[in-house]
Amino acid sequence: MVDTYDVVVIGGGPAGYPAALRAAQNGLKVACVDAWKNRDGSNALGGTCLNAGCIPSKALLESSELVYRAQHEFAVHGINTAGVSVDLAAMQKRRATIVRNMTAGIGSLFKAGGVTPIFATGRLLANHRVEVNADDGAKSEILARHVILASGSVPTELKSLPFDHQVILDSWDALELPAVPPKLCVIGAGVIGLELGSVWRRLGSQVVILEALDNFLAIADQQLASEAARHFKKQGLDIRLGAKVTAAKVTAGSVTVSYTDKKGEQSLLVDKVIVAVGRKPYTHNLLAADCGVALDERGFIQVDEHCHTAAENVWAVGDCVRGPMLAHKGKEEGLAVADRIAGRYAHVNYDVIPSVLYTAPEIAWVGQTEEQVKASGVDYKVGVFPFAASGRARAMEASAGFAKIIAARASDTLLGVHIVGPMAGELIAEATLAMEFQGTTEDLQRTIHAHPTLAESLHEAALAADKRAIDIMNR
Ligand SMILES: Cc1cc2nc3c(=O)[nH]c(=O)nc-3n(C[C@H](O)[C@H](O)[C@H](O)COP(=O)(O)OP(=O)(O)OC[C@H]3O[C@@H](n4cnc5c(N)ncnc54)[C@H](O)[C@@H]3O)c2cc1C
Repeated sequence: MVDTYDVVVIGGGPAGYPAALRAAQNGLKVACVDAWKNRDGSNALGGTCLNAGCIPSKALLESSELVYRAQHEFAVHGINTAGVSVDLAAMQKRRATIVRNMTAGIGSLFKAGGVTPIFATGRLLANHRVEVNADDGAKSEILARHVILASGSVPTELKSLPFDHQVILDSWDALELPAVPPKLCVIGAGVIGLELGSVWRRLGSQVVILEALDNFLAIADQQLASEAARHFKKQGLDIRLGAKVTAAKVTAGSVTVSYTDKKGEQSLLVDKVIVAVGRKPYTHNLLAADCGVALDERGFIQVDEHCHTAAENVWAVGDCVRGPMLAHKGKEEGLAVADRIAGRYAHVNYDVIPSVLYTAPEIAWVGQTEEQVKASGVDYKVGVFPFAASGRARAMEASAGFAKIIAARASDTLLGVHIVGPMAGELIAEATLAMEFQGTTEDLQRTIHAHPTLAESLHEAALAADKRAIDIMNR
């Protein structure tokens, strides 16, 4: 007899597993089919985010930041750290333990929540049937009233530099390096390239980041981007803009990367190359020809604004559909779909999705950049508050950067909030909440912020937008 479920989720990453749990909370019978394989051949829930993305990268960013601070910043606190050294094996073990505990945690949540995990590759057939292909080659079918596709994404490969996973690395390889490469080239100065470049720079690599675009962090507010670039340069990250990689030649464990820039042909001899030029949706072997689900020209699963595909009762969420490739965006889509299936109201506000780079200083934003607001023609005002004027940031010896608020002049509504500085990734939550509630600078101005906190910087930036800041001069 064919196993039948109310909902089958294909993919157990941060879009798929919350969808499965929420569907079960809604009283539905749920299975989650996941094909993730660790490098040692073991299965794990959590997808890219927990196994090879968000979590392991943050573990290494934290460890390497402590090393950097001990070496460069503790002395000013009067702490003598002579002789600080790095035990990379211990650092990597900690990273692996965090990942293992977190992914095992999803298994426990599934057990407690009544979700059936199926470690296999799922393929959507016509009429809500899902073919389950086990590792040992066994094939079976399950039937669902609804199917949620959450198959995620994989790193984009450059034709001129195919991954060999030894010298030419993808982001996952770069998180599991057993030794610090003396010379490292990162291709792509996006979020992943900057985070990975920061990790290995802090641990001692000489890092060159090659970026094809002429603008640094083109997706971010440019005032924020230039402030961040200044700090990255001070940390020794050699970021070369307008550098288009043309070829790479691997010889005896090292690699020569060729690229062109304004000055012409250039080359670089390094020990390892990390290719971080973006990710592409993963739908390999996911869809039978007659399943009714369509892909767009870039390979994303086509969905409407409710994440519904062209096939009845088939939904798709996360990195495999349009929108920013972010874990929290996928999670919200997964939850919304699971609620819609249960007949509940759900809404994903695509205009208010925060972005964070966990570099030092951290970079975070929500809403529109000043460039986007300007282009929209809306009359706007800006308030900027530097962390140098924050007592808490000074006490933390972390006074680099600023908080910037952009609001519509007529309505005072917040249009965008941009932070570069200490704990920016945490601070942006307040701005996100304010924007979700269609808040104004006045709302932030009238909200009491504890003193001394970094969050006061948002309060002061909101005041600065009306030239009423207290702790800086208003211009
Ligand atoms: C180095 C790095 C750092 C990152 N840092 C952040 C961060 O700090 N914050 C953030 O928001 N995002 C971050 N991301 C992005 C984040 O990881 C992704 O946006 C997120 O994982 C997408 O979730 P998903 O569930 O859509 O897909 P995935 O996490 O990719 O999960 C998809 C799952 O589906 C499985 N699967 C695919 N096809 C099938 C099939 N046919 N049958 C069964 N299973 C299948 C896959 O094996 C996988 O387990 C980072 C990514 C990387 C690479």
